[in-house]
Amino acid sequence: MNQNDPSQFDAAKSDVQRKTLEQRDQIDELARLRHSCAHILATAVLRLWPDAQLDIGPWTDEGFYYDFDLQHRFTPDDFPKIEEEMRKITKENQVFEKSIKTRDEARAHFEAKGQRFKLERLADIPEGEAISFFQNGEFVDLCAGPHVMRTGNVKPGAIKLLRVASAYFRGNEKNPQLQRLYGTAFKTKDDLENWIKLQEEAKKRDHRRIGAEMGLFAFDSDYVGPGLALWLPKGGVLVEELERLAKETEFQAGYVRVRTPHLAKEKMYKTSGHLPYYAESMFPPMELAEDGAPAATEAAPAGAPPRHVERYYLKAMNCPHHHRIFAAEPRSYRDLPLRLAEYGTCYRYEQSGELFGLMRVRSMNMNDAHIYCTAEQFAEEFRAVNEMYLKYFRIFGLDRYQMRFSTHDPSRLGQKFVNEPELWKKTEDMVRQVLIESGINYIEVPNEAAFYGPKIDVQVWSAIGREFTIATNQVDFAVPARFGLTYRDRDNTEKTPLCIHRAPLGTHERFIGFLIEHYAGNFPLWLAPEQVRVLTIGEEQPLLDYAKGIVQELRSQFVRVEGDFGSNPIKAKIADAEKARVHTMLVIGLRDLEAGVVSVRLHSKGPQGARPKAEAIAGIVSDIRERR
Ligand SMILES: [Zn+2]
Ligand SMILES: [Zn+2]
Repeated sequence: MNQNDPSQFDAAKSDVQRKTLEQRDQIDELARLRHSCAHILATAVLRLWPDAQLDIGPWTDEGFYYDFDLQHRFTPDDFPKIEEEMRKITKENQVFEKSIKTRDEARAHFEAKGQRFKLERLADIPEGEAISFFQNGEFVDLCAGPHVMRTGNVKPGAIKLLRVASAYFRGNEKNPQLQRLYGTAFKTKDDLENWIKLQEEAKKRDHRRIGAEMGLFAFDSDYVGPGLALWLPKGGVLVEELERLAKETEFQAGYVRVRTPHLAKEKMYKTSGHLPYYAESMFPPMELAEDGAPAATEAAPAGAPPRHVERYYLKAMNCPHHHRIFAAEPRSYRDLPLRLAEYGTCYRYEQSGELFGLMRVRSMNMNDAHIYCTAEQFAEEFRAVNEMYLKYFRIFGLDRYQMRFSTHDPSRLGQKFVNEPELWKKTEDMVRQVLIESGINYIEVPNEAAFYGPKIDVQVWSAIGREFTIATNQVDFAVPARFGLTYRDRDNTEKTPLCIHRAPLGTHERFIGFLIEHYAGNFPLWLAPEQVRVLTIGEEQPLLDYAKGIVQELRSQFVRVEGDFGSNPIKAKIADAEKARVHTMLVIGLRDLEAGVVSVRLHSKGPQGARPKAEAIAGIVSDIRERR
């Protein structure tokens, strides 16, 4: 599930979504190679542990995996042995041979092999779709492909097993737990080695590590619960600064702010279409009796009147609440576009095995807004949203980004896509045109739009070149109608508005997780939890007065400043400040006092020379204001 998707859940959650045949045709070379490696991995594991039960082996962004069920517990100690076997298989240069089987033949094949997960996967293939098998050497797998031609197309030195994890069959806790072997593969050995280096750099920048070092956030599984981040004061600063940025930016772009509760009645999510389909991704409901008292768990006393029980759900997305705000007052075309913004808190039930630091959590604060507009206003609104993205990219120094524009497939209108052929065509054309005119780097992905409209996933690359999906931007033709949203048009008729869902800064959790890696915790001045520290050389009273005066002056301008006036030698004070990643250090001794200057030192950049006190303070204040 993409946690930055403001309005939608991925139906498949952690399970792999079945790809259509058209989608499979578009798979790039690297994915083909990696998926072939999954077959090679399964071949190797079966050679070493012939009684292993197999599930599936897809490619991933990182490489590939294969899920196994066997008595032996895999550990990293097994990896060299398995990798050796995989290399052997590449050298055997086996051909990937395709064959088509009837459903009965396929079933008989897996029954004979006793592969019970494969039998279930077989049942997933829709009636009428070809059932294809691929064989390499002695290994036969149910698979639609695509693969490389031969195992020899994989370079033996360019494969690496990464880790083992447990995964439930179909990602469902009620199913058996399998062992998932993750690996990766590249076209060349060099590519693999570069990737390994990048991983090491990423490890140093791991947001969980830096977050703990800097005291940004904490998780308290005992008292608060897993996946529910607590923002410590320094992390709270990051949250506040991002919200201020969003509020100022949205204010200037004509948004209005709203506030909504964290829960709503079942009816809300039935109307939005999230229930029952995505119930598993939501926290279980709270049941309340009609009069507000909790529903009795024990049987009601005989003769007691039946009590109506109402179900409430924690919200997993903000859209339905905003839709109800739209509906709260009569709307006319003069009110449009209406841009409702909120840093809304959402809750999603992620399985505990899926939780990962700030990147995958159960409670998240989203930079959400919904723009209700007419079809005529759409292009302009969409263009403005894009400009907002670009503004944010500049502020955060993100020069590598890409927008993935997912469109519909006309042959699947009314099934996978809401049946509004003209609206699809019109909005997709407009989106495409805006993307081209803005000179935005984008790719178009057919057949992956949301049910109710085209969508754009925004991918950015951190300073060390790791890719993150930070935000989603969607057009919605269907849901406003389900909620009965209308406005009175010029011609006095009631019309349904379009809705744009957008969340450029994603969620605080994920975006800050990303920023920690991007900056390696060395935040720019405007974001730094501790912006300035004043360090004294010596303890003379006039010096202390001078130093305290500087602290006071900065604080009166809302600069986050601390003083270190103790008796430690200056070297130790600087080391402390460097360790705490304080952005700017103002070092002052008696000579600075006499000259009315401060010696400026920047974190990890060293001394910058002396500057007149007033000039240094003005510079800091203006850099913060300019978000530098
Ligand atoms: Zn395959
Ligand atoms: Zn939304």
